[in-house]
Amino acid sequence: MADVLVVVDHVDGVVRKPTLELLTIARRLGEPVAVFLGAGVERAAPVLAEHGAVRVLAVDAPQFAEYLVVPKVDALQAAAKVVAPVAVLVASSGEGKEVAARLALRLGSGLITDAVDVRAGAEGPVATQSAFAAAFSTTSRVSAGVPVITVKPNSAPVEPAAAAGAVEELAVAFGELATGTKVVSRTARQSTGRPELTEAAIVVSGGRGVGGADNFPLIEALADALGAAVGASRAAVDAGWYPHSNQVGQTGKTVSPQLYIANGISGAIQHRAGMQTSKTIVAVNKDPEAPIFDLVDYGVVGDLFQVLPQLTDAITTHKG
Ligand code: FAD
Repeated sequence: MADVLVVVDHVDGVVRKPTLELLTIARRLGEPVAVFLGAGVERAAPVLAEHGAVRVLAVDAPQFAEYLVVPKVDALQAAAKVVAPVAVLVASSGEGKEVAARLALRLGSGLITDAVDVRAGAEGPVATQSAFAAAFSTTSRVSAGVPVITVKPNSAPVEPAAAAGAVEELAVAFGELATGTKVVSRTARQSTGRPELTEAAIVVSGGRGVGGADNFPLIEALADALGAAVGASRAAVDAGWYPHSNQVGQTGKTVSPQLYIANGISGAIQHRAGMQTSKTIVAVNKDPEAPIFDLVDYGVVGDLFQVLPQLTDAITTHKG
């Protein structure tokens, strides 16, 4: 069976969820071969094996942490040479897309970014992308070289599928360009204890209807009851009620969770662009004519100050 390279996204060997989703997709196309770069493979390998990785090609080198993406591209190029894959799958993060683009160039291949689905096709993998503020879905396939495809988080379920996951050392000769851009300092982001917005299975968002920064704890309480990430509309972040890094929409982040709960958000096209591929959409809005209701699976016409505390209490009680 054909091999499919899956680039592992991890933090010190803790595999991030989008990688497990890529393994699900890789199994539709062939046999997943994971490429693990950096330290911690002993921690990651069992998890990768449990999710279908037949082999794990690993290389640890200081270059990955000390320099920007080029060392990773060198390593992936070496992996592609060893495996001759039918596709390379990368998570659609900022870094993932840069690595994928550089790799595609090196391999003389076509690149598809931000796929929301990938399926096997008669002439190679077929990717679905969501275009023009998610108003259209397009399907495409790479016609030259080894398809390099970046896939958005939450585009496939995480499915356990035991495989050998044998770890093999990958030999990499770093090129001159690998040490071109040195990382001189790092600042750890302060943890909120909540999942990363773009990866979360559930997102609870607040908009102008929340009425002020002091009321955002209502949104956070519901998010915490559900184990969700917190999002916000641009109106809310522009008013300084919540950080810009939490903005969902055309000029913010694109999310595609299993469940999106919009509270006090009208549903402007620019907001929809960032969330309308969510699997199930719920809105709480006191205006029955709000455009967000055209989009939802479940709508609550009501005042969020009454609805949210009751919802949070009900969920907390239900969880026992
Ligand atoms: P509003 O449109 O003011 O809606 C507030 C809603 O809250 C109303 O529907 C109201 O009925 C409801 N409400 C009020 N009080 C309550 C209550 N007590 N209980 C329940 N409901 C209540 N917007 C984004 O979100 N993300 C983007 O990335 C983005 N990018 C943009 C890019 C460009 C180029 C432009 C021009 C605009 C962009 N916008 C973006 C802005 C967008 O057009 C809207 O202005 C914005 O999304 C509105 O935010 P909102 O829904 O929170 O506020």
